[in-house]
Amino acid sequence: MDNRLLDILVCPICKGPLQHRRGGTAPDGASLQSELLCRTDRLAFPVRDSIARMLVDEARRLDDADAA
Ligand SMILES: [Zn+2]
Repeated sequence: MDNRLLDILVCPICKGPLQHRRGGTAPDGASLQSELLCRTDRLAFPVRDSIARMLVDEARRLDDADAA
């Protein structure tokens, strides 16, 4: 993902900065998609085909395993 694009993206709820987490393969073999994380709202917005989906309806709730 283009870093300049990431600079522009803010959380649609709190307007705070987002943390980009790259997709890949989890230790247990599961595939992970790239996400943009808002620590304030504890939401993860999916990135599909290099396009961030900044819709609350599509966001995943972060659980405690994501807090580290
Ligand atoms: Zn937020």
